Amino acid sequence: MAALLIEGSNGPWEIVIGLEVHAQVISRAKLFSGAATAFGADPNTQVSFVDAAMPGMLPVINRICVEQAVKTGVALDARINLTSVFDRKNYFYPDLPAGYQISQYQQPIVGRGTVTIDLKDGSSRTIGITRLHLEQDAGKSLHDIAPHASHVDLNRAGVALMEIVSEPDLRSPEEAGAYLKKVRSILRYIGTCDGNMEEGSLRCDANVSVRRPGDPLGTRCEIKNVNSIRFVQKAIEYEANRQVDILEGGGAIAQETRLFDSAKGETRTMRSKEEAHDYRYFPDPDLLPLVLDPAWVDQVRGSLPELPDPKKARFIADYGLSPYDAGVLVAEQASADYFEAVAKGRDAKAASNWITVELFGALNRLGLDIDRSPVSAAALGGLLDLMTDGTISGRLAKDVFAAMVESGKDAMTVVEEKGLRQVTDASAIETAVETIMAAEAAKVAEYRSGKDKLFGYFVGQVMRAMGGKANPQALNELLKRKLAG
Ligand code: ADP
Ligand code: MG
Repeated sequence: MAALLIEGSNGPWEIVIGLEVHAQVISRAKLFSGAATAFGADPNTQVSFVDAAMPGMLPVINRICVEQAVKTGVALDARINLTSVFDRKNYFYPDLPAGYQISQYQQPIVGRGTVTIDLKDGSSRTIGITRLHLEQDAGKSLHDIAPHASHVDLNRAGVALMEIVSEPDLRSPEEAGAYLKKVRSILRYIGTCDGNMEEGSLRCDANVSVRRPGDPLGTRCEIKNVNSIRFVQKAIEYEANRQVDILEGGGAIAQETRLFDSAKGETRTMRSKEEAHDYRYFPDPDLLPLVLDPAWVDQVRGSLPELPDPKKARFIADYGLSPYDAGVLVAEQASADYFEAVAKGRDAKAASNWITVELFGALNRLGLDIDRSPVSAAALGGLLDLMTDGTISGRLAKDVFAAMVESGKDAMTVVEEKGLRQVTDASAIETAVETIMAAEAAKVAEYRSGKDKLFGYFVGQVMRAMGGKANPQALNELLKRKLAG
């Protein structure tokens, strides 16, 4: 059970959350113009006459963006609507030169679907998707260039967004985080959004309300444009507690749009909630309804790669991984591929452990993605092979791995250069054992008089004398024999 209840004076409160995710579509051109979409270009260098809303300019839909939305709908196990309609959503803002945003309202391209979220305790829950629609992004107002003027950058104006709306099915900040992670993972697998929250390609509005368990839904507040998963979770937590305090004090929640201040960790009023009728939605007369050919939709359906959930199930069934480890490995296509390359013909659980603990630990420290890992899958596989065939001991493998991370060299090269090859040669071990026994004559006598526990001490001493390179099994056998006298 991942629902998080907040204790009140007359019993607990349940948190109810629905998320709206704005995902920037991966496409070289905008939704209705041929202007480029690359991130980080100089202001106003990627603006066509359509994006600038020059009189008489007409939008032409970009087929790639439609295909991306359909792919995403299929991946969300959602209904694809063969006819959808683009509407004008009217409002004034300086970064919206047309005075309206082209969006979809009553007839979106994608209808109901589902997302399975994976929770820390290993359980899963299914969250309903209400809809996915295509819409244009707005430009960006810049208020920090000049003290008494605002500037507008229209590079982003007209870029295609998919708005993915969830049902109010989420019950805790943890679930909201798991939902965002899963949606992002799916989008990245199918290449429809890069999921980069820092660059704003994935933005989230969180709708939050509280209620007594079993009661109808309470009044919600919407927290706009939160740009990291951690902040979404913090914002929800703060907001739910704020609402509980108001209700416990006998007050009522005003439905409104709020902002999350990440520095203060609190939400505050931005504006009272607008209603749909405030936007005067109507079908855009410049655009025909979008009609999809069912055969083409099937073709798109057939083009999808294996998605995270089926891949996770396969990793559990075929490789014997725990649901948790499988979930960690499949979160990114690249780490799943890396794992399969290492596990091929090797001990899959060892491969999984080395990747999720040692490799991910190192990549985290270095701030690198797995695509840029200094240790390739082949190199990590080589390290596992050296342990399997006894060339190095398990205890030295971590040192070898650390050197591989640092130098980018393969395992054998590191072992040779550092002379870390495991010593199985009995005479070398014997010499070390005899040296230690001579130096520790008193302890040897104690051992022989029955103090068995000292055995571990001798193992440690000999190992240390041999720089950790002795084959542990050979060392144990020899030592036992020698100590027996
Ligand atoms: P709007 O445009 O008003 O934001 P949408 O239909 O686009 O409306 O989105 C509504 C979002 O709010 C959905 O994600 C939905 O699940 C969520 N939601 C609706 N009612 C509640 C509620 N009482 N508590 C929490 N979330 C809610
Ligand atoms: Mg909304």
